[in-house]
Amino acid sequence: MDNYFIDNNTHNTKEIEDFSENLTSNSNKKNRYRVAINDELEIVQTGFANGVAEGFPLSENEKLDMIKSAEHAFGIFLDALKCDWRNDPNSMDTPRRVAKAYVNDLWTGRYTAMSEITSFPSDGYDGIIIERDIPLTSMCSHHHQIIGGLVHIGYIAGEGGQVIGLSKLNRIVELFGRRGAIQEQLTTAIHNAVNKVCEDNKGVIVTIVATHNCVSCRGVKHQGASMVTTKASGSFRDNNNLARKEFFDSIKIN
Ligand SMILES: [Zn+2]
Repeated sequence: MDNYFIDNNTHNTKEIEDFSENLTSNSNKKNRYRVAINDELEIVQTGFANGVAEGFPLSENEKLDMIKSAEHAFGIFLDALKCDWRNDPNSMDTPRRVAKAYVNDLWTGRYTAMSEITSFPSDGYDGIIIERDIPLTSMCSHHHQIIGGLVHIGYIAGEGGQVIGLSKLNRIVELFGRRGAIQEQLTTAIHNAVNKVCEDNKGVIVTIVATHNCVSCRGVKHQGASMVTTKASGSFRDNNNLARKEFFDSIKIN
């Protein structure tokens, strides 16, 4: 069993470090790698809404300070909208609720690192691995409206390669989804992360199908329109190949 994790403390480190000496002697494959989230994976500048915050990952105390400061600022925002939130029983705690929602949920991917990524020997399996219907909750960085939908991820492990724990694909979606986003960039970010942790893979494909509240609730106000984006590499890259067809047949998108 190999262990991978995206380590955000080594933000500027590009090298893959070998930690094999740290592992016990009775496992079959004992390589352990530290996979850094670096400028290669973080395709958005630090500090931008779609990227990580300066100082990422933040400590719990730093997050509490951020919530306090954002709470104060949101109260002023409501003042500007002539909302008497201090006396309204439904609104008096709203600045704190909104601040907590951003730091702990909606934008947590900017502040909180993801957990360790574990991979396992593929034991000769050379087919496509697909996880479909991964729930996506993200936020349009233009309007701060919710993007909701599904992410479908497929990859093919390399010869004698590794497969990663299924839930880690979900966690990669959470890391990049729980921030500001535009769907095209989010698709690329998830693809690149899967490509990195599934080393020596033969191909990775990511499709996102999502609705954007900024389209359905404001502006043109069209309910039900969805956006489909796909980022593919390796065996999935050509339009007429069988791996790509099998993936789209599986997720029922043509
Ligand atoms: Zn928008």
